[in-house]
Amino acid sequence: MSDLIRLSRACLGVEEKEAILRIMDEGYLGMGNEVKAFEQELEDFLAARWKVACVNTGTSALHLALQACGIGTGDEVIVPSLTYVASFQAISATGAIPVACDIDLKNGSMDPIDVAKKITSRTKALMPVLYGGDKGNLNEIYAVAKKNKLRVIEDAAHAFGASIDGERDIICFSFDGIKNITCGEGGAVVSRDPNILERVKDLRLLAVRKDTEKRYQGQRSWDFEVEEQGWRYHMSNLNAAIGRAQLKKIDTFAQKRLSLAHLYRQELQNLPMRFLDLDWAHIVPHIFVIIVSEEQRNELKTFLENNGVETGIHYKPNHLLKKFKGFECLNAEKFWTQALTLPLHCLLDEKDVLKVTDLIKLFFSKA
Ligand SMILES: *Cc1c(COP(=O)(O)O)cnc(C)c1O
Repeated sequence: MSDLIRLSRACLGVEEKEAILRIMDEGYLGMGNEVKAFEQELEDFLAARWKVACVNTGTSALHLALQACGIGTGDEVIVPSLTYVASFQAISATGAIPVACDIDLKNGSMDPIDVAKKITSRTKALMPVLYGGDKGNLNEIYAVAKKNKLRVIEDAAHAFGASIDGERDIICFSFDGIKNITCGEGGAVVSRDPNILERVKDLRLLAVRKDTEKRYQGQRSWDFEVEEQGWRYHMSNLNAAIGRAQLKKIDTFAQKRLSLAHLYRQELQNLPMRFLDLDWAHIVPHIFVIIVSEEQRNELKTFLENNGVETGIHYKPNHLLKKFKGFECLNAEKFWTQALTLPLHCLLDEKDVLKVTDLIKLFFSKA
């Protein structure tokens, strides 16, 4: 049997290897000039005056963005139940309560109508998740936020590479091993609000005031002030070096992901399943999800696995977890039983996708 077709993988080359060796030769592994250069290159890439602070994971990006907004004990943050548990844990890490809201079945994104229902006097922010890399119902979400004077902290872990349009508040990216670009592990907080950026830059270095500037000059603060709880969440030069090499390849990665997703959609037409309604012209697809009947989903998953194709399920709704229970999100539960994520990464080629789609056609012809 041929090799396993993996669900997701990092796409690394000689450039990343050379970058790591360069940092090792330079001998400054922690947070220094390389992180500064990566932040600058991310700002150039995002353009339009977006400012960037890099951290060690996407989860810490979310945590610090919330803390920078002054969110903590007694506050509530509304978040779609259909997300990686990282979004929920980042909210509860601040002491705030993650209030699970439902999703829109057509795109897997936060449902603005359910959001409006779940707003209370304790609600401080909304955390939409850019499911699959798509903006989903983001315009409506921002309208609800504006009306209720709430901050918006976007979990954009899936969405790096997509253009950022419209008025947006805070956007958090992940650069973990399987995201659209990787640093090994890493994340970033993006905003045009200078206060947020300044706060995140302090909070990532144990809340030592202005330590970032020192470290970018290869120095440390010996006499300093601390006024609140901070964390060791900064990015290291080693991780930034990998990220810089990856960022240079984003256009190739984007094209590859889009063309593979296009091939899936073309090949899987007219089968008893549906695709998510995403803005394919403007995204860099991070995962490729199909929706099948609840009766067939597990059977199809097993069939593909038995034939060397790894698949995933994004995600188990968080309100079904003991720590985050107490909310009703029926669409998220339905989605969880019907969704199946097919392999999508930059080391796949057309032949791999055709193997997957042929297997799916075979499955439905026998069903
Ligand atoms: C990956 C991911 C995160 C967390 O990012 P890490 O860098 O792994 O901490 C958060 N939310 C979603 C939706 C993700 O996919």
